[in-house]
Amino acid sequence: MIEIDGSLGEGGGQVLRSALTLAMLTGQALRITNIRARRKKPGLQAQHLAAVKAAAAISAAQVEGMIQDSTALTFAPGDVQPGDYRFDIGTAGATSLVLQTIFLPLALCNLAGAGLLTVPPAAPTAGAVLLTVPPSASEITLIGGTHVPWSPCFHYLDLQWLPFMHRIGFDTTLELLLAGFYPQGNGQIRARIEPIKTLAPLDLPERGGLKGIRGISAVANLDMSIAERQQKRALNRLQGRHSRIDIELLDLPARAKGTFLLLQAEFKRSSACYFGLGALGKPAERVADEAVDGLEAFLAGNGAIDQYLADQLLLPLALASGESRFRTAQVTQHLLTNAEVIRAFGAAEIKIEQEHDKEGAVRVIPWI
Ligand code: ATP
Repeated sequence: MIEIDGSLGEGGGQVLRSALTLAMLTGQALRITNIRARRKKPGLQAQHLAAVKAAAAISAAQVEGMIQDSTALTFAPGDVQPGDYRFDIGTAGATSLVLQTIFLPLALCNLAGAGLLTVPPAAPTAGAVLLTVPPSASEITLIGGTHVPWSPCFHYLDLQWLPFMHRIGFDTTLELLLAGFYPQGNGQIRARIEPIKTLAPLDLPERGGLKGIRGISAVANLDMSIAERQQKRALNRLQGRHSRIDIELLDLPARAKGTFLLLQAEFKRSSACYFGLGALGKPAERVADEAVDGLEAFLAGNGAIDQYLADQLLLPLALASGESRFRTAQVTQHLLTNAEVIRAFGAAEIKIEQEHDKEGAVRVIPWI
């Protein structure tokens, strides 16, 4: 059994989610204590509980401690079973984070016997993969927040994360059925995850020249003039400094009100994505400013990818068929923490060299 101290590094929900994913991929039982110890309200909250339930459902796991506020969990996965699943978080907890917890095991469940996910002989709990079911596609429906703070929003997932997943070999489509904002949630997304056989490494030491900036200014159940104000502010700040900027207006289906503005810089070899979310009493201009500030900071540096994608790429790249390299805009606590969890499972060696202005060169060397 792998023992993980949930207070390591960032000490948040990502330690738990990455550990669950790795437990399913390697077939190793997991004991995690001090769950989210560094958060104001520690233990399993709705989104984390939903991630545990989703992981347990797809891997027929035996679980102890799967209750609200629990700070310790034992999770013994069985075979990962692709199929159609529906998970309701019940709050505005992020659907994207629950999806990322189960995405890799569902996509890679036909790697059984390939030895790709076997832990290295040096690891204390060396074992083989348990993923032995025939490959088939999965349809996952998730209900909860789709555009909520501190997580990838649906459009970040679809426009930024997914293209990188495709680039390394995944075959998945995403669909937004209903947008869900804080505090009501009630959004709905669907993912169709095809099984795949191999994952290619990524080599992104630099981003190449800027091709253009595209964006989305969206509202749900609010006047389109708010989306126009967000769009106008972003254009005012970006035009003149950069060329080829296109921000489309969107009216999203949703049960409650919400807005966001997302910007994506497209480079010759890469892309980076930042967004701002609306909230009651928050001016449309401030929503736009948050996205523009993030993007401008990125453009001022030399990162090949944004700091969020950096921590989200580590796990998939740990399973690739060779060594990956990328330059991140920032070495964050999330990145360092995710690297520690992956090392604890003996899934890959990860080297992170922090450079000037927090930028960093990352190498992921899978233990194949
Ligand atoms: P907590 O324990 O604080 O409740 P959590 O479960 O919400 O944590 P974290 O451990 O904070 O999760 O992980 C958040 C994840 O969301 C990270 O992978 C991070 O990169 C991603 N993320 C946060 N903000 C953004 C953003 N603006 N754009 C894209 N991804 C983001």
